[in-house]
Amino acid sequence: DTQAIQAIDGAHYLHPFTDNQALGKKGARVMVKGEGIYVWDSEGHKILDGMSGLWCVNVGYGRKELADAAYKQLLEMPYYNSFFQTTNIPAAQLAKLLTEVTPPQFNHVFFSGSGSEGNDTVVRMVRRYWDLLEQPQRKVIISRHNAYHGSTMCGASLGGMSGMHAQGDLPIPNITHIEQPYWYENGRDMDPDAFGIKAAGWLEAKILEVGPEKVAAFIGEPVQGAGGVIIPPKTYWPEIQRICDKYGILLVSDEVICGFGRLGEWWGCEKFGYKPDLMTFAKGVTSGYVPLGGVMVGDRVANVLLEKGGEFNHGYTYSGHPVACAVAIENIDIIRREHLVEKVREETGPYLKEKFEALADHPLVGIAETCGLVAGLVLVKDKKTLEAFDSALEVGMVCRGHMFGNGMIMRAVGDRMIIAPPLVITRAQIDEMVALIRLCLDKTYEDLKQ
Ligand code: PLP
Repeated sequence: DTQAIQAIDGAHYLHPFTDNQALGKKGARVMVKGEGIYVWDSEGHKILDGMSGLWCVNVGYGRKELADAAYKQLLEMPYYNSFFQTTNIPAAQLAKLLTEVTPPQFNHVFFSGSGSEGNDTVVRMVRRYWDLLEQPQRKVIISRHNAYHGSTMCGASLGGMSGMHAQGDLPIPNITHIEQPYWYENGRDMDPDAFGIKAAGWLEAKILEVGPEKVAAFIGEPVQGAGGVIIPPKTYWPEIQRICDKYGILLVSDEVICGFGRLGEWWGCEKFGYKPDLMTFAKGVTSGYVPLGGVMVGDRVANVLLEKGGEFNHGYTYSGHPVACAVAIENIDIIRREHLVEKVREETGPYLKEKFEALADHPLVGIAETCGLVAGLVLVKDKKTLEAFDSALEVGMVCRGHMFGNGMIMRAVGDRMIIAPPLVITRAQIDEMVALIRLCLDKTYEDLKQ
């Protein structure tokens, strides 16, 4: 029963990114079932999951095919590692499959158990690459404020979340950050395309400040997810590419959220037109059903690692886990046979754009924008000037509370409300979702009047 679970949960389970003392008093909502885009709690409430869990349940809940793939593999060969000149069938097959669904420069993959571990792998691989090229002084990796790249020491250091840096003396040395390409916060006085060029210019300024001979790589999410669905102007990424090429630094795309169709292309870098050397993935690779992540390694890096030889002293017990890989193969097959990427590009993405961006007529909404199946809107005090609310009012949290109470999960990042629904969402379900958002915007507006 719900209370019994809440009691043991509160007594023993330290939840991630949670004030556990407060949660212990309140009791966590117990999620028990999922089907399609909906989840149910233990009290029988049906909830539209506007966030696909944590941006991961791309093919939706309740896919028997994925359970079958896991079960079959669990019986046949539940675990074997690839450390000591051994491999397993799903890992090898998935490695090949991933090279088919990624841009042509990617012919190799390194597996991890999560996105954070994938980004740790990036840091170590980038350093190994430059060491092998006898440029060991190239150690600095440039990232962005408000980025999220995971919770391990490297992941949180690459990330630009000040709250995470404050706990644990981060970032680690040789990781530095530039400002994010967020037009609303950093460029409202400019035309968005001109702002995109300006924001990319911050990378060049940082390279010159650090010294180009010391810079190893730049890393970014195509669309910053956890930072609040920050959709860059279309000019941004091509300019970032030009700057990376100019100084010969590696370009890393963290596709943990954007990969596997979320933006209406297989990869965010395809959507924004750039060519990364390394690409981190996780989440959508198994639709979150089992943990798996990794790094796609482009030819530029792979050729050096392979030709110069020697052992890369890095790996995880669960690198290439056969059960996770078997689920990933089936998951990618579902994405392909149900044409989910094309569906987002041609049907549901444009439909969400039309419906979600229409929310901009609401008195509380300053900006409403989408990219494929991610979307964000900014709650503002003044629609004309886009003046923000006093952060102490926590308007975003109020709105999030209404959403949760009315049967939908929508995330609040400050006063930016964001969604990333499963890629299997239909037009009718988009209508339902947008209607719920409007209802809760109204309720939030009423609260503010009081
Ligand atoms: N990179 C990005 C862009 C993410 O959004 C996340 C998680 O949200 C991660 C990395 C970390 O992935 P994980 O939580 O699987 O370690």
